[in-house]
Amino acid sequence: MAEQLPPELINSLQTATGFDETAFRDVHGSGSQVVSVRLNPAKVSNPSQIPFLENILAEKIPWNTNGYYLKQRPIFTIDPLFHAGAYYVQEASSMFLEEAIKQSCDMQQNLRVLDLCAAPGGKSTLIQSVISESSLLVSNEVIKNRANILVENITKWGAANVVVTNNDPKDFKKLPAFFDCIIVDAPCSGSGLFRKDPTAITEWSLNNVELCSQRQQRILADIFDCLKPGGVLIYSTCSYSTEEDESIADWLKDNYEVSNIRLQIKKEWGIVETLSDKHQCYGYRFYPDKVKGEGFFIAVFRKETEAVEPWKEKRPNIKNGLPSKSDEQAALRYLDPGKAYDFLKWQKDMLAIPAAVYDAVLFVQQNLYIKKAGINMGSIIRDQLVPDHEWVLSTIANIVFPFIEVDEATALDFLRRKDIYIDTEKHGWSVITYGNTALGLVKILSNRVNNYYPKDWRILNK
Ligand code: SAM
Repeated sequence: MAEQLPPELINSLQTATGFDETAFRDVHGSGSQVVSVRLNPAKVSNPSQIPFLENILAEKIPWNTNGYYLKQRPIFTIDPLFHAGAYYVQEASSMFLEEAIKQSCDMQQNLRVLDLCAAPGGKSTLIQSVISESSLLVSNEVIKNRANILVENITKWGAANVVVTNNDPKDFKKLPAFFDCIIVDAPCSGSGLFRKDPTAITEWSLNNVELCSQRQQRILADIFDCLKPGGVLIYSTCSYSTEEDESIADWLKDNYEVSNIRLQIKKEWGIVETLSDKHQCYGYRFYPDKVKGEGFFIAVFRKETEAVEPWKEKRPNIKNGLPSKSDEQAALRYLDPGKAYDFLKWQKDMLAIPAAVYDAVLFVQQNLYIKKAGINMGSIIRDQLVPDHEWVLSTIANIVFPFIEVDEATALDFLRRKDIYIDTEKHGWSVITYGNTALGLVKILSNRVNNYYPKDWRILNK
């Protein structure tokens, strides 16, 4: 594959810090692949709980608490626990985001975090695992069908302190000084993924690098106001091009009052620290010939503008959208009693929102297009829950229905939304589990079992 690397890319990287043309060509030509996963600590505490990974698990990823390399790439779709949100398949370099957040944000505080370019959800699921339960993650994707994939992955992750929105970056101007931290994992020319996806090489051009660079500036300009003074902006790409990396750092310094944050990295990680030409901003380059991962760039900034009136916790007037007190009382029985919730009504369904982030969620709801907020529990009918799939996959459900642990073949049939046979006397709602992790709901009738796995999410292969 080495010959296919675009010559203009190789030429343009000659002055990029840490670029070693021979090693770079070799690693792209070697055909080697790095595969990694990140566990969902709210669902599994140890990789040994995932039998599918048992024989292919390799070492830990040094810059991520829950990340592991695998010895080979399996077909993840045939592992029921992959569908249960027990882990996320994510490229290792990008898992460095955990370090960037922990080193720049005050993790003792309850944070409001925006992941602006979030689909399919790799960074968002990582962020959710790092922030506190009383923090809020707004996970946004501008492209509609990609926002659906984001909803699916966030739902499987199971956390209640996440809102998924489907907005253009400029819509966030309606939330001035609202976020403590914004992650812009920007759309880019994608050269960092050439090894994983050689077809991306054919789409690469210098012209596209320039277009991406302009778009990255527009995106950053659109969201700058919604970052609090003192707040943290984390910018990343999977491009090697300095026009999309260090030059964007210089552009930010030229146009906004920001300081750049230097991160601590261990020498053995192989990450290259770079300095931008004009303002000497620190950035971090990941080359696949130096790290065990793909191409990636990340830089971190703090907004240094004078404090403005920040967004104040205040409950907006809600005329519609509140459930009755009796429905709320009934709903509480189906939630983890150790936590506090407030509720919203969405059509007939109850949305459970952690009380600590409720006002912020209402504010987001009033200003943006929400695809998902908190946990959709389902509807309360005569004090009983008619459960939704989202609730059963969540990490806040108090599951009162019987669990039915199934074998792998039955689990896969369930996930294909096929009819499954269950030998039980109990009728009504039941939860299908595999490896003691919930996969979804069935309703057992006297003569059949109704499969409630969401149609759009079913496994399509044989
Ligand atoms: N953060 C994601 C993850 O870790 O799974 C990957 C994000 S991908 C690098 C960039 C995202 O930006 C894509 O989902 C893309 O649809 C979105 N995007 C494209 N154009 C955009 C724009 N003009 N403004 C904001 N986001 C955009």
